[in-house]
Amino acid sequence: MTIEPYYIELIKSGEPVAFPTETVYGLGADAFNTKAIEKVFKAKGRPSDNPLIVHISDPVQINDFAKEIPESVNILIQEFWPGPLTLVLKKKPIVLDKITAGLNTVALRMPKHKLALDLIAKTGPLVAPSANKSGQPSPTKANHVFEDFGDTVSIIDGGTTEVGLESTVLDVSRPSPMILRPGSISKEEIEAVLGSTVLIDDSEKAKPKSPGQKYSHYKPKAEVRWLNPKDDLRDPSTLFLLINGNKKQNNIINYDQEFDRLARELYDRFRQADIEKYKTVVIEPFDERNNVAIIPALLNRIGKAIS
Ligand code: AMP
Ligand code: MG
Repeated sequence: MTIEPYYIELIKSGEPVAFPTETVYGLGADAFNTKAIEKVFKAKGRPSDNPLIVHISDPVQINDFAKEIPESVNILIQEFWPGPLTLVLKKKPIVLDKITAGLNTVALRMPKHKLALDLIAKTGPLVAPSANKSGQPSPTKANHVFEDFGDTVSIIDGGTTEVGLESTVLDVSRPSPMILRPGSISKEEIEAVLGSTVLIDDSEKAKPKSPGQKYSHYKPKAEVRWLNPKDDLRDPSTLFLLINGNKKQNNIINYDQEFDRLARELYDRFRQADIEKYKTVVIEPFDERNNVAIIPALLNRIGKAIS
């Protein structure tokens, strides 16, 4: 599968185009075109203080955006790129202010999805926030993008995304690397590769270092909460996401400890809840465990949907 020239022309003419990555669908625009980037903020209703990730198709393009690149970056790229790891680095002056929301850093990622790589190779670097209206869950299917934008946005359909949660954001512009947003690449995996401790940003509520973390954009309209012993699984106004159950019922989805599948489907379930007019989404609680990398990211997104 390759990208139709139509989409490449659209991007080059300054129009946003939605495309699949392995995490979620992105709303892509030319990273060197301020007007195109403004269109992305406007279409999404995204607050202008929430910076964008620049998506590249070749690691050498880092040098077009970032300066003072530490040695650890080469190691991380070797191991995790292309893939769902976003690196925050000191920015070069040419990086547009619209992208960085006035920060002195820039976030960069080389996605793994074939269509994304093919598109970016032909258009050049793209900013690509998740292709949802601000406030809606991120899109993991082309149809989710259509739900939010109708035919006002062109969409490259690549089916369902593989990971289903947004990338791990790792700040490597500071002396000790720090995870600003958990994703499918875990703290432990990064530590193993770097051979040193990785911090986690816990300043979240006060003033998160990743500005997007202060917005609860992972929420459906339905209330989301954890399961408690008093819950009645027969309540037809509640959609239950169960980790251990195996009850066959319309309002119950069983995950049977398959956390990667829960991550892949979580936003789809949130959207399903709203479309099918459920009042509440109730999720069976689960704890972190050593060998399941996705769990901290799942707990982060569910936690935001609940708060
Ligand atoms: P989205 O593309 O919708 O997944 O959002 C991108 C995320 O990356 C948001 O949480 C942003 O706050 C974060 N981000 C982008 N650029 C930076 C940066 N320079 N420093 C810290 N966080 C960033
Ligand atoms: Mg987003």
